Amino acid sequence: MTERFDGSFTQQEPIPEAGIEAALHVLRHGRLHRYNTAPGEIAEAALLEEEFAAFTGAKYCLAVASGGYAIGCALRAAGVGPGTKVLTNAFTLAPVPGAIAGVGAEPVFVDTTDALTIDLDDLKRKIYESGAPILLLSHMRGHICDMDRLMAICADGRVAVIEDCAHTMGASWNDTPSGRHGLAACYSTQTYKHINSGEGGLLTSDNADLMARAIMLSGSYMLYERHRAAPPPEAFAQVKYVTPNISGRMDNLRAAILRPQLADLPAQIARWNTLYRVVEAGLAATPGLQLIPRPEAEAYVASSFQFLLPDWPADKVRAVLARAAARGVELKWFGHTEPTGFTSRHDSWRYARPQDLPQTDRVLAGLVDMRLPLTFSPDDAALIARIIRAEVSAVHQGATAGPSTVPAAD
Ligand SMILES: *Cc1c(COP(=O)(O)O)cnc(C)c1O
Repeated sequence: MTERFDGSFTQQEPIPEAGIEAALHVLRHGRLHRYNTAPGEIAEAALLEEEFAAFTGAKYCLAVASGGYAIGCALRAAGVGPGTKVLTNAFTLAPVPGAIAGVGAEPVFVDTTDALTIDLDDLKRKIYESGAPILLLSHMRGHICDMDRLMAICADGRVAVIEDCAHTMGASWNDTPSGRHGLAACYSTQTYKHINSGEGGLLTSDNADLMARAIMLSGSYMLYERHRAAPPPEAFAQVKYVTPNISGRMDNLRAAILRPQLADLPAQIARWNTLYRVVEAGLAATPGLQLIPRPEAEAYVASSFQFLLPDWPADKVRAVLARAAARGVELKWFGHTEPTGFTSRHDSWRYARPQDLPQTDRVLAGLVDMRLPLTFSPDDAALIARIIRAEVSAVHQGATAGPSTVPAAD
């Protein structure tokens, strides 16, 4: 009998009851705009910022419209503008180079290791070659590089670091929360991330000047004193005259949905990591398949799973994807030369100068990715691993053609 998986890789859990109730409360009073408060009332958005600052240990926090907005806002607040060179991971998601392009800056892509992290030797080289003043570090798919070494390299090269923590909310490196190494950090609350408000973003920093600029940029008008996880009014004294309002606020409805989810996050992280370890154990020692090492210093939040089919020819990788899809297991492949679905690569971002990234290309050619939504049980995770293991093994041993009725995998 051939086992099949029937779950949905895109189905997240519902919003917890406490979030639904909080949302209804906001809907019933109607004050959805964050600066629309009754006398004595503290806006949900301001409370979320306070709670998220406390969760990460940051001094300041700003809630905004999306993770991509948070990144663009952080870059602009850090002084990045037209023509600035911004170092960033060659392996990341499209909103990252998009945010760089959005402020008129130029991405300088840094190569990728087999651990799916930024290549620190290439980073060193490119800091020197490019003279870029800033690194937008993307902890892509939750894999964290050696942050101690990265920060030493950047301090040495006088390069500021902004962290894209879209996949590392709740993760840490050597007990320092992800997002607490650099000048600022950006998080997403889009449906597929670690807390879900459909769309949304959070920006944290300890730097008063940067955060005052970010708050003004986000569209605070002259109501910045309503923020709580914010620098004191003095920080705005000059900033308020010279900072454009590039409207991108979060509203109270989304903040209300997020607050109970933030409180639940530690428990959710434990559930994600249980699923991850079941898949990892199920795929261990599969011939031809390479697992991604997870360093001891890294406390991860495994909302997705990656593995490598290193140096496999493209038709064989396609055969694995097709055969897994036929059994209900939806895998993504970063080796597609055409961008599909959410997956695109540095060579499809043609608004940026083309760059030579041989190591990234080699890694992406064998990189397979899947989501691990919390609607999966550990039994589901074990079944998924059995299916992947069987199909990788079959193709590795010589089967090439997938079944004829396979939908196109994206
Ligand atoms: C989702 C994501 C973003 C952007 O978040 P949005 O809220 O969708 O704008 C940025 N970086 C990475 C790596 C992401 O996965």
